[in-house]
Formats: sequence, C-alpha cells, structure tokens
Amino acid sequence: AGSWESLYRVVLLGDPGVGKTSLVNLFAGVPERDVPEPLGEDTYERTLSVDDEETTLLVMDTWEPAPRAQDEENRSHNCCLQVGNAYIIVYSVTDRGSFESASELRIQLRRTRQSENIPIILVGNKTDLVRRREVSVEEGRACAVVFDCKFIETSAALQHNVAELFEGVVRQLRLRRDGS
Ligand code: GDP
Repeated sequence: AGSWESLYRVVLLGDPGVGKTSLVNLFAGVPERDVPEPLGEDTYERTLSVDDEETTLLVMDTWEPAPRAQDEENRSHNCCLQVGNAYIIVYSVTDRGSFESASELRIQLRRTRQSENIPIILVGNKTDLVRRREVSVEEGRACAVVFDCKFIETSAALQHNVAELFEGVVRQLRLRRDGS
C-alpha cells in the first residue's frame, strides 16, 4: 500500500491561548526516528505507528477566530472547516469562555460538513492548573456526548495524554476507513 493512502489532514480549532500550538509542538517535537517537517507555516507532518500500523498526520495549527462572530465568509476560517479529515477542538479547563467557544465550533463544523462523518475530538487542556479549573471533567464529558465526539483531557505542560490524543485521532480515522 502506498503511504498516501494513510495520510490524513487534522485541523486544530479553539480559542487563542488554550494550548493548540503547545499540543502540536509536542506532537511534532517528540524525538523519535521520524523527524517532523514543518510544511509551510503552522503545518506539521508526522508518521505515527499505532497498533502496528503506520499513519501520517498532517496537523494544521492555522485557526484564527473570525474578527466578528457573524463573519462566517472569512476565507481562512471556512478553509479550515472544509479541509480537515479530522478535527481537534481545544478548550482550556481554566477558561469557561473557551469551553463555550468549543461548542460553537462544533456547531459550525456540523453545519459546514453536514453529511460527513468526520472524527472530532474535544480536548480539555491545562489540567495541571488544578486550582484555576473552571470546567469539570464531567462537564467536558457530557458536552462530548451531546455533540457526538470523543473527549480527552490533556496537559501540554506536563505532557500528559498528548500522545494518547493523537493516537486517538488515528484510531478514529481508521474506524471510519474500515467502515465501522
Ligand atoms: P494557542 O494560542 O491555542 O496556540 O495556545 P499556546 O499553545 O500558544 O498556549 C498559550 C499559553 O498557554 C502559553 O503560555 C502556553 O505555555 C500555555 N499552555 C499551553 N498548554 C498548557 C498547559 O497544559 N498547562 C499550562 N499550565 N499552560 C499551558
């Protein structure tokens, strides 16, 4: 099988400051035999071996919220919502506003990619900031159930659950490829 068959584009979404760049840097920067190549600005490629099978993820960290909420014609905005084979929607557990934005992004994504069954992972980042937590793990989990996506809490600072997050993305992509 050609490697192109298992190349997927993954787009990071979420409010500024929630930790998207930190997460993708950990993903791309883990010192393994696969050297990450930044492909143009803010796009990272890495081949992961998950369950004895290799899959290449092209992760795009190009999301910028539209200047105004109603400005949905914004081009880079729409582009991000169109091109992904999978989406990682990040909020910070220390920022309730970012949690609410995550729900809005999920709704926007569903509207843009209506009939497609694309994998979406909701990520609550910054779990290390225990005393500043504003969103409980139960709320995160419940939100994922309502919005029909996977859920994981991470800490980029402690490198906790970051590998698990990207492995989860790979498994979700394969489930759909294999027609489950
Ligand atoms: P982005 O705007 O979503 O790409 O967010 P960044 O990755 O630039 O992170 C914004 C700030 O949050 C930076 O100062 C990071 O060091 C910090 N940050 C990111 N992830 C974590 C985390 O898991 N824990 C803590 N304590 N800080 C984090």
